[in-house]
Amino acid sequence: MHQSFPHLFSPLRIGAVELKNRVMFTGHATNLSTDGHPNEALVAYQRARAEGGAGLIVTQVSCIHANGWHSGLSLRIFDDSSIPHYRRVADAVHQFDCQLFGQLFHPGRETHTSEDGRLATSYAPSALPSDRFHVMPRAMSTTLVEEFVSAFGDGARRMREGGYDGVEIVGTQGYLIAQFLNPTANHRTDQYGGSLENRLRIVHEIISDIRRKAGDIVIGFRISGDEFDDQGLNAQEVVTACEGLTDALDYISVAGGTSATLGGAIHIVPPMAYEAGYLKSHSEAIKQRASCPVLLTGRINSPQVAEQIISSGQADACGMTRAMICDPQMADKASRGAADEIRACIGCNQACIGHFHKGYPISCIQHPETGRELRFGTLKPAASARRILVIGGGPAGMKAAAIAAERGHDVTLYEQAPRLGGQALLAQLLPGREEFGGIVTNLSREVEAAGVTVMTGTKVDAEFIAAQAPDVVVLATGALPYRPPLEGGDEAHVVDAWQVLKGEVNVGASVAVADWRCDWVGMGVAEKLARDGCSVRLYVTGHMAGENLPYYVRDQKIGELHKLGVQTIPMVKLFGADSDSVYFEHLTAGEAVIADNVDTLVLALGHTLVDNLSESLTNTGVEVHIIGDAASPRTAEEAVYEGLETATRL
Ligand code: SF4
Repeated sequence: MHQSFPHLFSPLRIGAVELKNRVMFTGHATNLSTDGHPNEALVAYQRARAEGGAGLIVTQVSCIHANGWHSGLSLRIFDDSSIPHYRRVADAVHQFDCQLFGQLFHPGRETHTSEDGRLATSYAPSALPSDRFHVMPRAMSTTLVEEFVSAFGDGARRMREGGYDGVEIVGTQGYLIAQFLNPTANHRTDQYGGSLENRLRIVHEIISDIRRKAGDIVIGFRISGDEFDDQGLNAQEVVTACEGLTDALDYISVAGGTSATLGGAIHIVPPMAYEAGYLKSHSEAIKQRASCPVLLTGRINSPQVAEQIISSGQADACGMTRAMICDPQMADKASRGAADEIRACIGCNQACIGHFHKGYPISCIQHPETGRELRFGTLKPAASARRILVIGGGPAGMKAAAIAAERGHDVTLYEQAPRLGGQALLAQLLPGREEFGGIVTNLSREVEAAGVTVMTGTKVDAEFIAAQAPDVVVLATGALPYRPPLEGGDEAHVVDAWQVLKGEVNVGASVAVADWRCDWVGMGVAEKLARDGCSVRLYVTGHMAGENLPYYVRDQKIGELHKLGVQTIPMVKLFGADSDSVYFEHLTAGEAVIADNVDTLVLALGHTLVDNLSESLTNTGVEVHIIGDAASPRTAEEAVYEGLETATRL
């Protein structure tokens, strides 16, 4: 028995298969597909997690019917041409004693796109609208219900023929099956609506069709333990539904939230504001009534949390999806007693679900190799060891130093501050963003493990660099707050967001925050000051506060600001201030928008790059690379990516 995590690393029987451990990589959108089929990038992505020790991988939703698009990059298992593509995933995953299931899916009314960008015709149990995507669906005929049931069975057969071990019927998050289960979304008067028995009928029929067409394939059902929406399925309704299905199933997989509303959708991929493992009471309630194994996902970001959930009987296995997006070898490290080496997911949502929502393949801000395994999956040793100086110990510099040293170079990392971390040390001071500091912990460990020489509290100039005679200099010198000239600004009390976060300035009772980036900083400073008791108005140069944030992070923060009474004024640009007023211009109306009675104006206007060295290194014969904010101020994601990308070329 494994000493540290004996429950997590014990086998689990699910239907006809046995998992070697209870670490699951659950179904999640990746945007890794070509023409609706799993592509080579997806094969490499899933292979990395299987090789990294996962006991079970569940691949992302496969749409089962041509009138049920979820997104243009969704998998589509509409006909037998899919089978060879699924087989490539199965062959890759099975090499590592990992079981492979696939999700069978129809979005119902949660359809917001089509193959070519037109709005799709949406079908649902009843013609009742979805708030989030503003969709009014068409009620399904009984014949169409039967067609869908058969399409689920056909999809399962194709997965079976593609070598999959199991299928999972997606009944989570307000999609088609959840719409049938939900009395507020299902007003049917035929055999599929009304009583609980009738609302569960479609699931039973799908299970029977799968059993008929796909033999002994494992059949699971995924459901939200709570949709967290007053029009959605509540916790008690979910327990009752699971009770009515459990005898027909091989397992139940519990997640949270609903796609149908902005508030409910936050729980689809809960950001760091939610406690690790926060859905465990929901799986526990289901497990008490279930005759099959119950699996749980939802912010289970460490083996310690998973072990605690399983050992206390709250679930039989844990979905650790972002944990393995961030560290594909998480399970392997935990199982061999190296849990300290795990690169912990910080729940930022930025490059995983954030990329999905932007229509790009998913990745991870801490591990940019994710989703790019074909390019970065194998780190090649350097052709010859070179002497490399990395200047700047923020995320860009740390990643570059760690990767270059891992490849065999002789690397010294210089940071002028007393400790490594750069702007990430400030970002963790924003309310609810404390976990962001994990990126510093993780990268510091990578730097140390790679054998980088670290010199903190050391300011470097051109003469110093010349004296070191390096082969390569990587400049990762970061950025500082951008403070443009402000008409009348001398009379006003003007401070910047960094000063507020560091506690360097006093702030008056009535505050205007000017937020140009529409990201974490303006909203975070507004929240902090409101929590400190200030009256806060947030003026944003965009359509809404948090416009550039991952959706679920943005929407959760907007809710927080609302509760705190922060007034948000969108689509304005700062142009002046005097002793007690701040002047903005409306972005399209061109009219003045005046904030009266302001004691302090807080600037969250982005950053300006710091690069005092590159010019002096020109024509010195030293190879120079500029990365991260020093190249152009952006976010930690680009910083870490450029650290990786540059270091793999050295
Ligand atoms: Fe976790 Fe953030 Fe990486 Fe997503 S991008 S896996 S939330 S650390």
